[in-house]
Amino acid sequence: MNARVIAVANQKGGVGKTTTVVNLAAGLAELGRRVLIVDLDPQGNATMGSGIAKQALEQSVYHVLLGDASVEEVRQPAKQGGYHVLPANRDLGGAELELVNELAREARLKNALSLVDDQYDYVLIDCPPSLNLLTLNGLVAANSVLIPMVCEYYALEGLSDLVTTLRKVRTAVNPRIEIMGLLRTMFDARSNLSQQVSEQLASHFGSKVFETVIPRNVRLAEAPSHGLPGLVYDRNARGAQAYLALAQELTARLEPATATPSV
Ligand code: ADP
Ligand code: MG
Repeated sequence: MNARVIAVANQKGGVGKTTTVVNLAAGLAELGRRVLIVDLDPQGNATMGSGIAKQALEQSVYHVLLGDASVEEVRQPAKQGGYHVLPANRDLGGAELELVNELAREARLKNALSLVDDQYDYVLIDCPPSLNLLTLNGLVAANSVLIPMVCEYYALEGLSDLVTTLRKVRTAVNPRIEIMGLLRTMFDARSNLSQQVSEQLASHFGSKVFETVIPRNVRLAEAPSHGLPGLVYDRNARGAQAYLALAQELTARLEPATATPSV
């Protein structure tokens, strides 16, 4: 069985991409799935948030993209949480320029991941907040895209840029890619705007919108400074429990035959 490769993408920063990657990884690991995070953001937040010191890395995803190291050589276990990480740091910022004259530069990650495909059930790719060559590598490697978003006024406008990019990627380089789901993050159920944007989302994207909603929860924001997923830092917090519910919803969607029956 090949790994399901999911790019977590939104060209907007601060919408919960990294928080989703780290906590979904921990949630899937808790459900017994083998998970690899690929940190494609030079900020290295998913790396740090998994308890891996980004400054101390000898090799990172940068070396994998340039063909100087394999995934197996570079990956590390998260400090806690039960998943692996292909870590990143500022080096990655130079990759775009250095890859300009390379062949198949947008398929670098895909090719590297194909060698470990049978070692994982899920690969979660944390994309940077732009539609650059790094994000393109994520979208070419992925089977599907998970889009975290905050239900605010301009949210839908930002989504249409991403949907346009996905359409181009589908035509040009990766015909199999599809939107797996839209995830409402930092949700405030009492806000009228959240409710309105939610309704618009449902009318545009229907069942692509995850039923699980991630509430705004300070414990999720505190966890990265301890190098831990929220699910490890305070598993009873509402935010952590929401991510566990997301892991369950996602496995039920993607593994219909083997989904755990609800009791
Ligand atoms: P992105 O990767 O899209 O830039 P992050 O996951 O880094 O977004 O989230 C941006 C900021 O919001 C971080 O400081 C993070 O800790 C915080 N955050 C993310 N999700 C939540 C949430 N559900 N509740 C509270 N804070 C959150
Ligand atoms: Mg991020």
